[in-house]
Amino acid sequence: TERMLQKSEKLALLGQMAAGIAHEIRNPLTSIKGFIQLFKSSLPKEEHVDIVLSELERINAIVGEFLVLSKPTVAVFVEKDVKALIKDVVTLINTQSILNNVQIFVEFDSDLPMVSCEENQLKQVFLNLLKNAVEAMPGGGMIEVKVKKKEEGKIAIRIIDQGIGIPKERIPTLGEPFYTTKEKGTGLGFMTCFKIIESHYGELKIHSIENVGTTIEIILPTITQPLLKRELIHS
Ligand code: ADP
Ligand code: MG
Repeated sequence: TERMLQKSEKLALLGQMAAGIAHEIRNPLTSIKGFIQLFKSSLPKEEHVDIVLSELERINAIVGEFLVLSKPTVAVFVEKDVKALIKDVVTLINTQSILNNVQIFVEFDSDLPMVSCEENQLKQVFLNLLKNAVEAMPGGGMIEVKVKKKEEGKIAIRIIDQGIGIPKERIPTLGEPFYTTKEKGTGLGFMTCFKIIESHYGELKIHSIENVGTTIEIILPTITQPLLKRELIHS
């Protein structure tokens, strides 16, 4: 019965999410429809076309984030070097960070143990978190990424920014879908991160002080932990 309950809970959550997506997508669709109707009776104005395009982009972003989530649940876990994954992601976000006057510094402990992970999912997490960090510093600044060995069998990845921070009362609710303070945000990034880290038997912690900055800490088990390795192979 425990499994059944879990399943019905999952279905309920899925229903809530579907309702949320429908709502989030209907708003920009209504606005697009209105403007297209306007175009029928008159020549389109450039700023109206821009609105239509940005609303389409928004729908695309929402659908895109859900595609990431709906990828096969039986992920293939492979031994990977987190250092290499992070370096790839930093390269990926480099153009955006330079444009925003943000410098990214990375620091790794020497001889870090490997982690068992779904590479693309973990990259998605680092990308979402680094994007949030860049977006939190409209005036530019510095992001530090620190990867350290924790106690036996764990590593900690910290992404530290000097951005606007998150209001204290908001922190416990992060991970709920569609909370965003950004004009072009989807409010799905954190939810995706939490889901992926959970599926990697890890933890995601948020420390933030308004107008000082935010530190996101991810704890991941390493493959040196024999019990967990067995679990992964059998499940
Ligand atoms: P999105 O980035 O699309 O808004 P997220 O789920 O990634 O959605 O983030 C949700 C909200 O959490 C953001 O809109 C922002 O208000 C806040 N947030 C996330 N990361 C940071 C950060 N590093 N600094 C300040 N606020 C943040
Ligand atoms: Mg985001």
